[in-house]
Amino acid sequence: MSDIVGIDLGTTNSLIGVVESGFPILLADDNGERLTPSAVYFPDGAEPIIGRAALRARSVAPQRVVSSIKRLMGSAQRAGPLDLSPEEISALILRQLKGNAEHAVGREVTRAVITVPAYFNDAQRNATKRAGELAGFTVERILNEPTAAALAFALDRGQAKARIAVYDFGGGTFDLSILQLNDGLFEVRATNGNTQLGGDDIDAAIISHFAPEFSELSPEQAARLREAAIELKHRLSFEENASVELPFYCGAESLRVQLTRSELDRISQPIIDKTRWHCARALADARLKPEELDEVILVGGATRMPLVRDTVREIFGREPNTSPNPDEAVAIGATIQAGVLAGAISNVLLLDVTPLSLGLETFGGLMNVIIPRNSTIPIKAGEMFTTAVNNQRAMSIKVLQGEREMARDNWQLGQFEIEFEPAPKGMPRVGVQFEIDANGILHVLARDTRTGAERVLELKSAVDVSDEAVEKMLGDSLEHAFEDMTERTWTEAALKAEEMLRAVESIMTQSGAGMSETERAQITWAMSEMREALASKTPARLQRANAVLDEATQGLAALILEQAIR
Ligand code: ADP
Ligand code: MG
Repeated sequence: MSDIVGIDLGTTNSLIGVVESGFPILLADDNGERLTPSAVYFPDGAEPIIGRAALRARSVAPQRVVSSIKRLMGSAQRAGPLDLSPEEISALILRQLKGNAEHAVGREVTRAVITVPAYFNDAQRNATKRAGELAGFTVERILNEPTAAALAFALDRGQAKARIAVYDFGGGTFDLSILQLNDGLFEVRATNGNTQLGGDDIDAAIISHFAPEFSELSPEQAARLREAAIELKHRLSFEENASVELPFYCGAESLRVQLTRSELDRISQPIIDKTRWHCARALADARLKPEELDEVILVGGATRMPLVRDTVREIFGREPNTSPNPDEAVAIGATIQAGVLAGAISNVLLLDVTPLSLGLETFGGLMNVIIPRNSTIPIKAGEMFTTAVNNQRAMSIKVLQGEREMARDNWQLGQFEIEFEPAPKGMPRVGVQFEIDANGILHVLARDTRTGAERVLELKSAVDVSDEAVEKMLGDSLEHAFEDMTERTWTEAALKAEEMLRAVESIMTQSGAGMSETERAQITWAMSEMREALASKTPARLQRANAVLDEATQGLAALILEQAIR
């Protein structure tokens, strides 16, 4: 038996599995349940209680129950009566899974593969890793959920080549990934999603349908109404109408809530429609038309909703594949990956991609991309930089993430300084290397190649990027593509013009003697034209001024060349 476990640490439900005799199996708790609700109940003065029992406590002590903590992962927010961090609360869930697994297999398990949404940023991945460590695991790998799901599907099918879209609509997150499978080799061609979109939102919409003034309910009433809404939603995946009775809801009075399938469809339509954009974007990034896909797989409990299936059918123009168990596919995939790492399964390899471009700010406030979006990870890439002015003592390295041309429109992940000995501009050489490891975590290294001095950037807390923000970034980059390009062209031309002005100025003072008065006057005029063109911010004018100065300095250039030869 492999000694690495695979874990799906979900917003709503979590699962754990292990490879046994070459097969991934999910481990059940003492009640025979494989799904552990990701909920923690903190009783007054007693140990925390995790899972189904914690959910039950929600209607009696709602303030003492924490759920959907994954939505806060990677943020500085704290939750629950003990004011714990999202990592600490997630660690309690992981510790429970660890205990269940150890009980099932009869010995200690200490190594794990844990899944995260493909769209989790650096801070969120690091927080997940820390949660695993707090629970007593060595985290061998952080794996993207859709990749895990595709892995489970592919192993099941034994298909050698396929283009697969994974549509994962869970409790709190939505992900759409397009993967290419080639003889056991996986490549994520594109990925898009939203960490703040899921079945929870549908629950909230049902609740406000019943109780628009939800905030006026007591916490107990609110919790009971939420449970009723979830029950209705689940039943309406299989029935046309459903009702739930809430006895003694208002003192002695009961409450009966009922809903039909078509009412639920109307309530949830705007939420489910939000997934369309992400699908379109991922297809565009993968440069694929829906008909070029071999398979669309549905993952996540909320894909049981008929409206979700209809929407997917519309988006992709085909019948989605519903053969994997939507609750278990990700955990099965994580377990397979654990088996691969432990050597219990061979012939599978995983390749993932970066969701957004990573780069540096360079001269003129431009974004200089080092690792383009949708690059396959792990990846290492670098570039050489130099100084812009004489005797520059330090260079500031700003690490950026995003798709915009100007540095200021992207997110700054971190910043550090590299110092050097005074030297003429253009002399110092700083090599900057970006490395994204197999877990999707970024390491930035800067080295002064003359002295060998090194700085490594620790991305302690990457900017707190929500997926609405990622979505906005991608949308903005399309919307502003034209202005962005114009601004980049201008900035590059202006940098060139300034450089030329400095060069001509210094040549004029050094070798002015060999010039005629007319020539001198012409150059001086062309230079002032150039300065005005720069100030005017008009690209066409700058272009003309560039040509004029070029023309005026032709003689000067020949003269310098002559002097140099002599
Ligand atoms: P996560 O990955 O976020 O932990 P899951 O994949 O476990 O989520 O899906 C949980 C979501 O699926 C919840 O919103 C739950 O209400 C929903 N869900 C589960 N079963 C059904 C069903 N039969 N019909 C509709 N939604 C369902
Ligand atoms: Mg999930």
